[in-house]
Amino acid sequence: MLSGSCLCNGIQYEIDGDLGQAMICHCGKCRKSNGSAFAVNAAIKVDEFRLLKGQALVGEFESTPGVFRTFCKNCGSPLYSRRPSMPDIYRLRIGTLDTDVQVKPVAHIFMGSKASWDGAHDDIPQYDERP
Ligand SMILES: [Zn+2]
Ligand SMILES: [Zn+2]
Repeated sequence: MLSGSCLCNGIQYEIDGDLGQAMICHCGKCRKSNGSAFAVNAAIKVDEFRLLKGQALVGEFESTPGVFRTFCKNCGSPLYSRRPSMPDIYRLRIGTLDTDVQVKPVAHIFMGSKASWDGAHDDIPQYDERP
């Protein structure tokens, strides 16, 4: 069981399952929504995700047609993105996990749109978009 929460702790969730492969996304939208160089995201199964607290605080923004980014309306923490076209998965922002998971991201994606000041200094594969 994995658990996580937003910055203000108003939203708490559990995941009764494992994370999919974690990827480090450098796209301009992840950059803006996180206020940082990149986001580290991993797919989870919707039916394994359980919101324990804070349903009323969950906001959504459609950042691209068909892509909804979910966040806490109180503190702004990004939680996951979802696509109605892929109803079985969420892409969790794994920085919101409280469980100390052992994750090794498998790739840097959207390196073609990374900020010029963003350096990826490791040896995992890099892709200009989503492979
Ligand atoms: Zn919050
Ligand atoms: Zn992204």
